[in-house]
Order: sequence, then structure tokens, then C-alpha cells
Amino acid sequence: MIARIRSAVPVGVGVAAIVVEADVSNGLPGTVMVGLPDAAVRESRERVKSAIRACGLPFPDRRILVNLAPADLRKAGPSFDLPIALAILAASGVIRSGDDAVRPPHEPPDLSQFIVVGELSLTGDVRPVRGALAIARGARTLGARGVWVPRANAAEAALVADLEVWSIDSLADAVSWLSGTAPRPSRPPAPPPALIAPGRCGDFADVRGQELGKRALLVAAAGGHNLLLFGPPGSGKTLLASRLPSVLPDLSIDEALETTALHGLRDPLGAGLVRRPPFRSPHHSSSYVSIVGGGRDILPGEVSLAHNGVLFLDELPEFPRHVLEMLRQPLEEGWIAIGRSVACVRFPAACQLVGAMNPCPCGFFGDGTDRCSCTPKRIAEYRGRLSGPLLDRIDLTVEIPRVRHEAMIGGPRTSAGGASEAMAEEIRAAREIQSRRYEGESFRVNARSSGAALRRACSLDRRGEEALAAAASRLALSGRAIERTLRVARTIADLAGAERVRVDHVAEALQFRALDRMPHGFGATMAGR
Ligand SMILES: [Zn+2]
Repeated sequence: MIARIRSAVPVGVGVAAIVVEADVSNGLPGTVMVGLPDAAVRESRERVKSAIRACGLPFPDRRILVNLAPADLRKAGPSFDLPIALAILAASGVIRSGDDAVRPPHEPPDLSQFIVVGELSLTGDVRPVRGALAIARGARTLGARGVWVPRANAAEAALVADLEVWSIDSLADAVSWLSGTAPRPSRPPAPPPALIAPGRCGDFADVRGQELGKRALLVAAAGGHNLLLFGPPGSGKTLLASRLPSVLPDLSIDEALETTALHGLRDPLGAGLVRRPPFRSPHHSSSYVSIVGGGRDILPGEVSLAHNGVLFLDELPEFPRHVLEMLRQPLEEGWIAIGRSVACVRFPAACQLVGAMNPCPCGFFGDGTDRCSCTPKRIAEYRGRLSGPLLDRIDLTVEIPRVRHEAMIGGPRTSAGGASEAMAEEIRAAREIQSRRYEGESFRVNARSSGAALRRACSLDRRGEEALAAAASRLALSGRAIERTLRVARTIADLAGAERVRVDHVAEALQFRALDRMPHGFGATMAGR
């Protein structure tokens, strides 16, 4: 007799359907597993046997063939334990339902309507799996009515609307439902309405001085622009960047589910839905895989965990070149492809990049003292680590000067205009203008709009044209740089509620091109040495 149980495996942030088949026949006792299982899946043979016996059920002393279909998809991890155990029990006739002479006290569920996942302990308890939200989201696309998931994953799976979630504690529970000896479990607890605030997020009111820096972050947040902060250590670059999420709008339900699903691939969730834009700040010594994604189980990296939020890279030139190079795809396309010999997995990675860097390797260059000991050659080499194509994707570059210590801690708190709540309000209004402008398009902010849509939205007045042309020739701006300037100018005009982009908007946008004002990739101050 052959039994089939439906399961699924996360692929990227989506899922692939897996059918677990068990065939129990006469022959030499033993269990054979086929269908490209990895080591963890092969070990499930032992766990399943032990778990079935621990529940007081007979493990068939016959020949057992377990097939995971489709055969060309690599199966990783222990999440197939539960479907394998149920398939073996069904194939060997231990679980019986339907045609029995004795009617069970409860109506057994039709398991073909459900996707089943769960790891088994040797005692038959069901342990949480990674990616339960991704599987629950995918269950709908696979045409399932619901999911059977470990209890620890139930709240996470219940985030998906209109999905029947059965929360499982143990193999014995599952067997009693299928035999009709126990009623359907009560609904899993509603997920906490909450947010996983990725670290508590401070307020811009805590940042004294640095008005230009705050303005740059306001503009960047309003238009979804990538930003580079440039200044000596201790000038508050990190402080400024870490406040960015405090002014970004809440995620929509779809964004929240997708972001939460990505996070759930790395760690089973307990805390609920990610409702606020995440802020991720990997260190430059982090491994390539932890930033980009990949590894044995192909998990998302920091760039995907920052999806719909902020990726902050402090000391940008210290990141390995191949890490910086790979950022181009997510910055341009909003997703990242992780190649494997067998298959290529795509993870969403639409994040806003905030980079920070010192002016030179020691950090003191140009701070008005003679503490900098770097040679011009070392400085040029340090700055040259940022490739042109990466800089081309950064719309705003801003110099953050060192603020006198007294000004940082003792100065007057900034006016209400500098506090996060007021900034968030301005940003909301500017974003609304943009969503109306780009209605029906695949993008919603100026930073991501297509060239054609941008040109339609940016008819400059005559003085604006002249100012831009003059700056383009003075700063030797490339065509791409001019386009970036226009995008920023459009956002500044949106913040002002202005229909047309005027000369003052262009002038302010040009102010946020600190790098272009330094010839040879920031050498102006060097020439003065
Ligand atoms: Zn230096």
C-alpha cells in the first residue's frame, strides 16, 4: 500500500511542493529513502523510527520505501520528519480512517488538503522548523486549505489570512486526529499584533546639531534614496543612520508578511509580524555568505533581512570588494540571485542603502588638526575602493563634520522640525504625492522610478535648467549623475509640495553631491595638502 502526504520546502521566499510517499511491502525489513535527500533528511529515518515507537505504535517490520518527489529538487533539513512518519503509519495501516466498521468519535480530517511540516524528537515531540511563514504563505498558492505545523510555529503561520492552521505538539496528537479519536485542535493563539522592532530605534531629537545631515536623511527617506555619509569618526554618522527607521512609514501587510517570512527563514519566529522597516548593520568583517546569503541551506543574508528597510554599512571602504560589487544587483533590481550548481534562488532585497565612511584610513584627514598621518597615496587607495558603479547608485553624498563636543551633548535640542515624529509626517506627505504620481507602476518612490516616468515628472523651469547645466559642466557630472540629481530634486520638490521642480530644489539637490565637488573621486582637499 502506498500513502502520500503533502509537504513543502521554502525556495527563496516562495515554496516548492513536495510529496512524501511511503510504500510498505513484504521483503527484507529496512527503510530506504530516495529523492535527493541531504544528510539531515536521511537521518530522519532513525528519528522517525524512534518517535513512532515512543508513541506506543508499531514500526512496520517490513520493507519501507520513502520517496520525496520531485526527485530533482534537493531536500534539506529535518522538516520532513513528521510527513514521513505519517506516510509510513498510513501505508502500514496503523492510521485507519473512513472505511472502518467502527465509526470514530470524531470526523477525521482530509489530510490531502493540508501541507505538513515538522521535525520529530526521539520521543515523538514535534519541534519547530525554519520558514513556517514562507510555507504558510505558499500553501495558498499550492491550493491547500491549511497547514499542519509545530506548535512553536503556529502563531507565525496564522499570520496568513484565510488559512486553516493546525498546531501540533506531538506525533501522537497527529495520529489521534487522523484516526478520529481526538477532535480538531483549538485555533492557535492569534499572533501578537506586534512588531519585531529590530533593536529599539532612537529619535532624531537625540541628535544635536548636524542639520545638514538630518535634512539629507529626511530627503533620503522621503524618496527612498541611497545615501553616503562622509566624515571623521565620532561625528555622529552612525547615530544619524540608526535614526532612519524611526521616520520611515509602517510596512504594508504584504511587505510585512514578505519581510517576516525572510526573517523566519533564518530563525523561527516567536514575536510576530515585522511591521516596522528593519535596520540591519552587518560589520565589514562579516562573511560574504552572511551578508549576501547562501550557504548549505541557502538562507537569506543581511541584504535580504534589510528588505523593505535599511541596510547600514559603516566604514564602507573596509567591506571586501566582492561584497560591494554584489550590492549592485539588489540596489538596481530589488532582489538578489544566489547561484548554485543545481538551482538559482532569488531572495527579495529591496533595501535602502546607507553607507558611512571616514575621509581617510586614520579618520582625521581634513578635520582642521594635523593628526592625520596618511599619505596622499594611501588616501587615494582607500577612497578608490568604492567602485564607480556602486557610487553611481548612491543619490546623496553628504559631509558630516565633527561637531564640538559641547554642541553634541549640551547644545539646545533641535526644534520640533528635527524630531522623528515631525519628520515622519513630512515624509508621509511626500510619499503620498509619489504614490499618486506613480499609480499603476511597479515603483512608488522617486529613487526607483523609471527614467521615462522621472522625465515626465521633472519638467524644470528655465532657471532650474540653467542651474543644472552649469553644475553639470562645473562638476563634470555624468549623464547618470545628472539623472540622480534630478531624482533628488524631485523629492525635495515633493517635500515642499511643489508641482514643478524649481531652481532652489535643484540647488539643494546639488548640495547633496559632496563627492562630485571633490575632483578625482574626492581629491579637492587633498590637492590642498
Ligand atoms: Zn588619515
